[in-house]
Amino acid sequence: MGKAMRGMMLVWAQLDNDVRSERTASGMKAAFNAGRWPWGAPIGYRHGIKNGKKTVEVVEELRPIITSLFEEAATKLYSKEQLTQKMNDRGFGRLWKQKATVKTIDKILKKKFYYGVMEAADWKMEAPGVHEAIITEDLWSRSNKAIYGEPKRVKITGKSIDFPLRHFTLCGTCLSPLRGSYSKGRSGGSYPYYHCTTKGCPAPHSWRRSDLESSFSEYLNQFTLSPVQLALLKATLLEDVERSASLHETEETKILGKINDIGNEKLDVMRSRRVGKITEGEELTMLDQLRAEESVLKVELSENKIDRSEAEAVIDFTIHFVAHVGNYWEHMKPNEKTVLQKAIFPKGVVYENGTFRTDEISSSFQLIKSFAEENSPLVTPEGIGPSISWMKARRPGPLDDGA
Ligand SMILES: [Zn+2]
Repeated sequence: MGKAMRGMMLVWAQLDNDVRSERTASGMKAAFNAGRWPWGAPIGYRHGIKNGKKTVEVVEELRPIITSLFEEAATKLYSKEQLTQKMNDRGFGRLWKQKATVKTIDKILKKKFYYGVMEAADWKMEAPGVHEAIITEDLWSRSNKAIYGEPKRVKITGKSIDFPLRHFTLCGTCLSPLRGSYSKGRSGGSYPYYHCTTKGCPAPHSWRRSDLESSFSEYLNQFTLSPVQLALLKATLLEDVERSASLHETEETKILGKINDIGNEKLDVMRSRRVGKITEGEELTMLDQLRAEESVLKVELSENKIDRSEAEAVIDFTIHFVAHVGNYWEHMKPNEKTVLQKAIFPKGVVYENGTFRTDEISSSFQLIKSFAEENSPLVTPEGIGPSISWMKARRPGPLDDGA
């Protein structure tokens, strides 16, 4: 049991991490949407502080070099190699601490940042920045057309986060991923729905977003343990932490002993030098070697440290999480929800006749299940299965993207 539990804790620690990094990402997205550049300053800019806030500002000495680059590119008279040469002739290497290469030219010319627009390719997002532009949009377009041809457009996404269950939930009749959209009501308002409107679906259907989502949250709550099981789980996890902590302490004592021995050896070496048994050169060599051994041991010591409070925080998170999976999900932000859903049901879920089912739950949830079965009273999650072969037989060709 101890081993399984440790595995489970790792899964949850990972999940917690994923959720946390998703949270960091949403903080960055918020900054981005507010016009603040959340990454390293692009070439020609540097980070500064203005009114107590982090900003990105133009490096004045580089401004004329960047401007000339765009202007000369727009003339169609120069190759990228020639533009590189010109930049370096103007002292770019000295000012930026790195000579320009053809790659530098690409990096600068392609960035809309220089006329005030921030791009985040990974997020497929664009936003106007609050930073100072160096050139105009017109100059940017002309220079890009001259060097690369017509510029590509970055698609701006939006609404998808309003429907965390879309793509993830399959229609129980035709097994196509559900879509999400807003429908106009009779009174003119706009209402969110999930729906299957796949061509050929024998039972196309729409569900109010709130209905489908609360039903999903109830489904998640089926995986919850009873209070007795929770207490048992917590005790097992704590015991496990305690056991590994005491193992680590034994190891720590050993390493500290070795460090102490090295200290004594150092004193011996210095004493030998003082009484003239060894030369100064020999002393230095021996001391260097001892110091190297010592620093290796110190690294071992810090790697061996097990942070009990952190381990306990993971346990608390685990228990809280297991006790309230559904509610937990309900109160997350949409992007966090998708992370959690995927972590629990790697293959998504199927919705039919008002209930969910799945073919695969993640190992951590299988562990909960086996834990629950091993220790009565039983909580048996319903709705697992039917078999994959059944799904494959009914799946009408490859899944569409549900967009
Ligand atoms: Zn359908």
